[in-house]
Amino acid sequence: MKEKVAKILSDAESIACFMHKNPDGDAIGSCLAIKNAFKEKVKVYCPGKLPEIFMFLPGAEEVVQFSSFSEVKPAQVFLVLDCSDEKRIPDFDRSKAEAVIVVDHHETNEYFGDYNIVEPERASTAEIVFDILKLTKKPITKDVATCIFTGLYTDTGGFKYSSTNAETFQTAKELVELGAVPWKVAVEIYESNPPRRIRLLAECLKTLRLFLNDKVAVLYVTREMYERTGALPEDTEDFVNYARGIKGVEVGVFLRELEPEGVKVSFRSKNEVNVAKVAKALGGGGHDHAAGCELNCSLEEAIDKIINLLAQEMSGGQNV
Ligand code: 5GP
Ligand code: MN
Repeated sequence: MKEKVAKILSDAESIACFMHKNPDGDAIGSCLAIKNAFKEKVKVYCPGKLPEIFMFLPGAEEVVQFSSFSEVKPAQVFLVLDCSDEKRIPDFDRSKAEAVIVVDHHETNEYFGDYNIVEPERASTAEIVFDILKLTKKPITKDVATCIFTGLYTDTGGFKYSSTNAETFQTAKELVELGAVPWKVAVEIYESNPPRRIRLLAECLKTLRLFLNDKVAVLYVTREMYERTGALPEDTEDFVNYARGIKGVEVGVFLRELEPEGVKVSFRSKNEVNVAKVAKALGGGGHDHAAGCELNCSLEEAIDKIINLLAQEMSGGQNV
């Protein structure tokens, strides 16, 4: 299948590349790797805003940020990267392309493309994009390597998560040899915090609550906290890790209020608990150890629902 997709991409006259909304480093790095490899024939689309911390990536300035799918121009191929279901690209209209290709590493992927490459055992989508680009015989430039490295680096939490294995380091080695500079990527992503983010974090940490024998830690951010600190939704990336990072905690949960209503939830687990199952039961998805969903209710109602589901899941319940 990868050979086939490599050929379709090489032969295509126009490619529109999509990331999911609230894109992370893997979604953005994967799309920009394609942009830097195929240049003019690729347009990269982001539903909503592209987080500022990724603006250092080559090609980021050219990403088209759209609020309505009517702004998306037809293309021969729609290439959807790191996105498990169509819902994550609002009003996605596949009739604007001759073929839809999905490349992803989420277990919960719904195989919504005409061609689907889904490899849940891979730590990042960017690595699969790397495989495909090698098959196109396009030279892997320093810019392409930097984008792929960023996807791999961020989706493994800087080579910390359980998805990190010998293959991850092998791929990272190849990318560094091709010109990616790890410390530069690290500084851009983890050491370029705007002060408003740190102020929001200070407010968020005060909300800490522990549940289920202190095995679940919950943190949240309200609309009012955003207003007080001048922070943006994208500034909460990784806040959930403060919840998971507590000794004895098995599941970290982070919630943020959406504008004008609703709640976005992030789950992270350490060992046994499958949070993708819980997120899926709430209409979302993700991986065993990192998942998320959106709920149309208040913060307190969301916490209640989540704790009930986690209680079942963590007691080995079958009802989730
Ligand atoms: P995050 O918590 O960083 O937003 O997302 C963690 C993981 O869960 C990512 O792999 C992301 O793609 C997935 N995820 C987060 N929110 C949603 C959602 O609303 N729907 C689905 N299907 N997956 C989500
Ligand atoms: Mn990913």
